[in-house]
Amino acid sequence: MKEDPVSRMHTAEHLLNLTMVRMFDCGRCVSEHLNRKKSKWTTPLNAIPFSQERESG
Ligand SMILES: [Zn+2]
Repeated sequence: MKEDPVSRMHTAEHLLNLTMVRMFDCGRCVSEHLNRKKSKWTTPLNAIPFSQERESG
């Protein structure tokens, strides 16, 4: 299977979405733009990340 840069970026988007959903229990990204040199990623979160750990720890 030939992997062109576009399909590899597409795979990266899937992995990043999955990671964000698992870590932060949030939805999928609302805006993403992955490029080799510069990328942007926007995912609305339900809560401030890691704030619970800080408060209890
Ligand atoms: Zn896909």
